[in-house]
Amino acid sequence: MGDRFKIRAYCSSRTCDYVHKEDVMTAINYESAYSLAIAYNAYPAKPGCPSCGEPITFYAHSVLEVPWPNA
Ligand SMILES: [Zn+2]
Repeated sequence: MGDRFKIRAYCSSRTCDYVHKEDVMTAINYESAYSLAIAYNAYPAKPGCPSCGEPITFYAHSVLEVPWPNA
């Protein structure tokens, strides 16, 4: 139980709403997710957006676990 901290990839272009469907990485806490996102963003050979070719940007985010998933 508890929050999950994940890194997701988004297109950096404002005119494109591409979001990578799957989480890139799961981290144990927000600090590590955040620093991993920064490290990914600093990586020089980042993948481009498959939709428009603009660079992909990585963000850390947390997912609240629902305490009553079957309600
Ligand atoms: Zn794009």
